Amino acid sequence: MGVLNEKADLKELVEKLNFKEKVERSKALIEEAYKVYGDGLVVANSLGKDSVAVWDLAKRVNPKIRGFIVTTRYKPVETLKFMKETVNRYPELKVYKNDSEIPERLYETKPDLCCDILKVEPVKRAIEEMGVTCWVTGLRCTEGRTRTDFQEVEERDKGLIKLNPILIWKEREVWQYLALYGVPVNPLYAEGYRSLGCAPCSKITNDDNERAGRWIGTSKCGGECGIHTRPLKGNK
Ligand code: SF4
Repeated sequence: MGVLNEKADLKELVEKLNFKEKVERSKALIEEAYKVYGDGLVVANSLGKDSVAVWDLAKRVNPKIRGFIVTTRYKPVETLKFMKETVNRYPELKVYKNDSEIPERLYETKPDLCCDILKVEPVKRAIEEMGVTCWVTGLRCTEGRTRTDFQEVEERDKGLIKLNPILIWKEREVWQYLALYGVPVNPLYAEGYRSLGCAPCSKITNDDNERAGRWIGTSKCGGECGIHTRPLKGNK
């Protein structure tokens, strides 16, 4: 039995495994899933630090692995530039965006709806159009209050496996990986951001909580855009 089918005690693994063991476990998860799902395995790359680490791991498992990026009209210019550079380097990354008309400043009045339209809808479309049977994410259980209740392998939507290969990594271990393997990152991290999203909804904070700078001043503060919590298949 490989790691893909293991019922692991995640809290124990977070503390027990060292950096090298975590990297090996993450690669083994992707490797085993790729054997099962082949081209149906696709990486969701948000261009954040966790995503670029997962993307790099996946490329080491098999350079043919595909991915998708969801972008919005509100992404910071630095992120758009970083996206262009990343896609030039990896043309197997497909970009999805929702350009439909929405009320101005919807991110202030109804941030959940704004994220549903601009982020969740394109993810659903990517999953449908790319024939995804297993999507791979950069979710980490130590990242914040909304991220503790996940597993390394899940089936939240019937027929769609979700693989979270770096679920047990700490923030420090992500940076360790990116530094040691020379993975380029969004330059906004050098400005002090710890969690990146759209420009109006991402702020620099000194809070201990890694996601504290997200959606400040709204009910969604430190929360989720919805791609990890909303159904991604069908019209539910
Ligand atoms: S992060 Fe903000 S601007 Fe971006 S989709 Fe969500 S609410 Fe809208």
